[in-house]
Amino acid sequence: MTYRCAKCGGRIETLPEGGLIRCPSCANKILYKLRDSVAKDIKAR
Ligand SMILES: [Zn+2]
Repeated sequence: MTYRCAKCGGRIETLPEGGLIRCPSCANKILYKLRDSVAKDIKAR
């Protein structure tokens, strides 16, 4: 599961153990969940 920071837009791919998720860049706690299917670029036929 990939997360995206709501403040700086940075990606967080590794989650620390314990449940607390913070952005490594700005220490923001509000993150959005990104699905793998959304994160990938899909070429239209
Ligand atoms: Zn951030």
